[in-house]
Amino acid sequence: MAIGCSVIVPMFNEEEVIEHTYTRLKRVMDVTGEDYELIFVNDGSSDRTAEIVEAIVRRDAHVRVIHFSRNFGHQVAISAGMDYAAGQSVVIIDADLQDPPEIILEMLDKWKEGYEVVYGRRIKRKGETVFKKTTALLFYRVLGRLTQVDIPLDTGDFRLIDRKVCDVLKGLKEKNRFVRGLVGWAGFRQTQVEYVREERYAGVTKYPLRKMLRFAADGITSFSHKPLKIASYVGFVLSLTSFVYLFVVLLQKWLAFGTVPGWASIVAINLFFNGIVLMLLGVMGEYIGRIYDETKERPLYIVRDKAGFEFADGGYLS
Ligand code: UDP
Ligand code: MG
Repeated sequence: MAIGCSVIVPMFNEEEVIEHTYTRLKRVMDVTGEDYELIFVNDGSSDRTAEIVEAIVRRDAHVRVIHFSRNFGHQVAISAGMDYAAGQSVVIIDADLQDPPEIILEMLDKWKEGYEVVYGRRIKRKGETVFKKTTALLFYRVLGRLTQVDIPLDTGDFRLIDRKVCDVLKGLKEKNRFVRGLVGWAGFRQTQVEYVREERYAGVTKYPLRKMLRFAADGITSFSHKPLKIASYVGFVLSLTSFVYLFVVLLQKWLAFGTVPGWASIVAINLFFNGIVLMLLGVMGEYIGRIYDETKERPLYIVRDKAGFEFADGGYLS
């Protein structure tokens, strides 16, 4: 029997939650009455995540695991899950139970109605810091203004995609991946289900500020050139202003009225312009760095080991 639904669960040091996440996912997926697989992607965890998942794989033929050789990041882990998923529909869900597995049933209903992408929209976020909530709120709105791609507000990667969409995403080889944007870019018939984002079941966030910033920069640079355009506008306006000022200075000198020792203004102008120039160079650097990443033909991730797939196309599941 073909697999109905593949559920992808990226994990980075989630030893405290896996067992519980597995139980809840299994309970939900058993209700569907269809065949399913749970694909855990171990994104280079250094705690007991690997052991715990391996034990689950041994006792449940629905479960598979992919172990990365090191930490490649959340978005890459999701992408690897898609590469291995065999289901007619594919669900992506966080390991920490912030996305309630029960919502998958609603997503499957929508999918059966004919939608090819069903994303979860968080109408409320519980147990997250004010900082996280405000930065996320701002980020999605800024991104929305910068890009022409339709990326729905306040959605994470918790979503269901059809096999067709999964195949499209698998064919996109970009390295700095922003999966929720890629799904938006792919198009297809999309709809949403609303949910309340719960508190993390256990453990702490695996998204420190450093990863959040990189994630945001990936999102913006992958889906918008506007920062480059803004950079060139700002550069243009500033150089025009400085030419005007140069003219004023020369006039002052030639007409010899008041060439006062202008230390303060020179320093201020220097600091201002140098600051702006460095900032604009930084924006360009963000893009150039990413172009460089894309030109290196390195694989997106490296699999150290995997388990549970031997049952995938054998008779075991049917
Ligand atoms: N994650 C991952 N690799 C990473 C960071 C996170 O696979 O480098 C996983 C993590 O285990 C979780 C999901 O991505 O399943 C979302 O991470 P987290 O819950 O820590 O982020 P938050 O909800 O705080 O934004
Ligand atoms: Mg979380």
